[in-house]
Amino acid sequence: MRAETLVEALPYIRRFSGKTVVVKYGGNALAGTSEHDALALFAEDIVMMRLVGMRPVVVHGGGPQISALMARLGKTAEFVDGLRVTDAETVGIARMVLKGQVNPQIVAAINVHGKYAVGVSGVDGGLIRAEARDERLGYVGDVTEINTEILDGLLDHEFIPVIATIGSDATGQAYNINADTVAGRIAEALGAEKLVYLTDIEGLRSQVDDAGSLIRQTTADRLDGLIADGTIAGGMIPKVTSCQQAVRSGVRRAHILDGRVAHVLLLELFTDEGIGTMVVADQAALDEHLAETKAASALGLDTTSAGADTDGTTPSPIGGTDS
Ligand code: ADP
Ligand code: MG
Repeated sequence: MRAETLVEALPYIRRFSGKTVVVKYGGNALAGTSEHDALALFAEDIVMMRLVGMRPVVVHGGGPQISALMARLGKTAEFVDGLRVTDAETVGIARMVLKGQVNPQIVAAINVHGKYAVGVSGVDGGLIRAEARDERLGYVGDVTEINTEILDGLLDHEFIPVIATIGSDATGQAYNINADTVAGRIAEALGAEKLVYLTDIEGLRSQVDDAGSLIRQTTADRLDGLIADGTIAGGMIPKVTSCQQAVRSGVRRAHILDGRVAHVLLLELFTDEGIGTMVVADQAALDEHLAETKAASALGLDTTSAGADTDGTTPSPIGGTDS
């Protein structure tokens, strides 16, 4: 069994060698019995990716941690049209938590294994240029430009960049930016092979309340309908729109995975089990994926689990309920 698993990984290791993979680690994505355990498992996966020749890039959020510090400081959240107002003090708190607390935790967990990770914020090297989304919301930013020079430099020296999603405008003002959006834009700017979201649910569902409605494979175009009809809501919206934009801009595949599953990254990258939700640009890309799965099976690899919802002749990109 163990030898089989290792052999199964071989074609994937070959395929992904030298390729860039952007991974967004969600504030709620927790595997293991504690936050510390979860981070340790995640760090092992990232280091493994790097050791087999991939170029992993980590982007993280920290919403729950920012809310926790605000509560401790006795700051009450203000909302305009349901969106949190980020005043000057709040963006300062966000920057402190992301760059001072969450980012070094992830960097330290990875560097238990060696000298790999380097923490940067979007302000460093002008990585993330931002502008105010809406003046009434204060310092909530939209990305205007991604400058990947600092990432290219780190990756070429075999470091693993770990990115806190604070951006700055031309005057040096800091903005808090949605980490899902940043991950997509960075994947696009780096010409990444994959964009991966680790979250707190097994993937995209075609019925939010039905765990059995997991969408295993889909295309950017099909997702438009699910956003329009409200199937995709809340925190899933920035993930899905970022997946769409990324695969339409040259990122080969985007994945939404359950960060609560131990070693979910390794399972997705190095085994035939298609785990979570995979998003590709269009039907042609999906057909190409099915052809690859077939080729793998011709090599004698077991693809039964990966092909559970697709037999190669009648693709059913929307899980069991093709729509
Ligand atoms: P993260 O910390 O990873 O960004 P979010 O809470 O922001 O997590 O987003 C994930 C959540 O999106 C899920 O827990 C789920 O409640 C919600 N969600 C909304 N629509 C869907 C859908 N169609 N399929 C799956 N999850 C959805
Ligand atoms: Mg979120």
